[in-house]
Amino acid sequence: MDAQSFKEFGKAALDFIADYMENIRDRDVLPSVKPGYLIDLLPKEMPEKPEQWQEVLQDINKYIKPGITNWQSPNFHAFYISGCSYPSMVGEMLSAAFSVIGFHWLCSPACTELEMVVMDWLAKFLKLPAQFLHSTEGPGGGIMQGSASESVLVAVMAAREQTVLRVKAEQPALSEGEIRARLVGYSSDQSNSCIEKAGVLGTVPLRLLAADENQIMRGAHLAKAVKEDLANGLIPTICIATIGTTGTCAYDDIETLASVCEEHNIWLHVDAAYAGAALALDDHAQLRRGLERVDSLNYNLHKSMLVNFDCTAMWMRDSNRVVDSFNVDRIYLQSKYNGQTDIPEFRHWQIPLGRRFRALKVWLVFRIFGAEGLREHLHKQLRLAKRFEQHVLADARVELVAKRSLGLVCFRVKGDNQLTADLLQRITDRKKLYMVQASFGGKDFIRFAVCGMDPKEEDMDFAWHEIEGQLNKLLSEEKGKKIEAITVNAHDTQQKDNEDGISQQLSSGLHISLGADERAP
Ligand code: PLP
Repeated sequence: MDAQSFKEFGKAALDFIADYMENIRDRDVLPSVKPGYLIDLLPKEMPEKPEQWQEVLQDINKYIKPGITNWQSPNFHAFYISGCSYPSMVGEMLSAAFSVIGFHWLCSPACTELEMVVMDWLAKFLKLPAQFLHSTEGPGGGIMQGSASESVLVAVMAAREQTVLRVKAEQPALSEGEIRARLVGYSSDQSNSCIEKAGVLGTVPLRLLAADENQIMRGAHLAKAVKEDLANGLIPTICIATIGTTGTCAYDDIETLASVCEEHNIWLHVDAAYAGAALALDDHAQLRRGLERVDSLNYNLHKSMLVNFDCTAMWMRDSNRVVDSFNVDRIYLQSKYNGQTDIPEFRHWQIPLGRRFRALKVWLVFRIFGAEGLREHLHKQLRLAKRFEQHVLADARVELVAKRSLGLVCFRVKGDNQLTADLLQRITDRKKLYMVQASFGGKDFIRFAVCGMDPKEEDMDFAWHEIEGQLNKLLSEEKGKKIEAITVNAHDTQQKDNEDGISQQLSSGLHISLGADERAP
């Protein structure tokens, strides 16, 4: 493809994108295709002859679009927000154009230095302790990883290696194999699945400690577990706390956890994948407490920071501890600048060797929205969640299961868990809204997260209208089923009465089955 065709193709693709975004509200959020739809539609071999881009673009409309779950629809309320904005898309495009792979500074000085700059900008925006800034004297700093999962894995593996080194020095009688076999880590049973997975991949078994009734893990939980493990000869290695759990967006108690970690030489990592954004808001300043005592921290810009997937910020208090754990070099990775300046060798801070130029899209987003625009984007999510919550609170048939937290509202149908599961299934089958379920303390609930590139007040009202409509139908069908069951029961009882003359059961059956809490609208 020559430059002229590229311009035409690119312009057509931009039109396509803008049109898709402008009309996203009109599309169902969930696709209507069945598993295997695309595999059946597409040829089994790649085309032998080159094809025209116009044809390919048409096929995106025909084959790909029907199989897209519209994450940027304002009617997408599952998981957490997936960041997206026009400046970020342009940043991705430019980064693809430069196609640099930042192994080290000379492989693209702008790639490394822009990352240092925007990581410091972000740390200041979130009001993180100064020790995490590149511009502060000392070994701390931030890097862009692909995901929270990778960041947590890096923390687990670095903690593992540092603990092995320390225990080897302290207890020379123990072999390295014995030390590694005794390592143990901690997180809460409310932490994201990627935390447990990092323990598996990083070969540090993690104990998932039961959170309290507010879904919070506290120092007392950790202290008890550490005491038990020390008594059993295990070696506490890392604790992964969460600011903004996936289920209910609860915040672990970083200060009390930090005290236990400091006492026992345990690496403290904080997964703030979603709620890290709230650190920027002064009305959430309490979330910053204890962060100066944390060893590492991650926040997903690809959630609420208008940056497209993938982009996770990870800060370390002492990057040397990570570099010392993972530093493997080769002659082809050397340049006269390596190690000669304060510029970090980011390849030692991460799992892959190659590095994407993620900082470019972040720089575009930060400049084009400004700190003010980013804060407004966060405030909007809080406002919209509050608006949705008002609908929940106004309906006596449903209840909140946790306090509204940032852009997340967790609610359920009062009564048996099956009602909530049935409601969610009905809504999902209609494809107008997408939400997912979670569970805490034996109660299943629906998570409603404010998502999409540009959600508005009326989208919250639309969502509630859809939920309410399905709830009405569900409860009236349930009522119908109960009346039918009672009628059948009454009929049977009547027959039995006729046979043996007992008449009490019918009236008591009716009383039990039509309790006040089970009314349908
Ligand atoms: N941690 C939390 C609290 C999350 O909510 C999520 C995903 O939603 C993750 C970690 C995993 O993020 P990633 O996909 O970037 O690994």
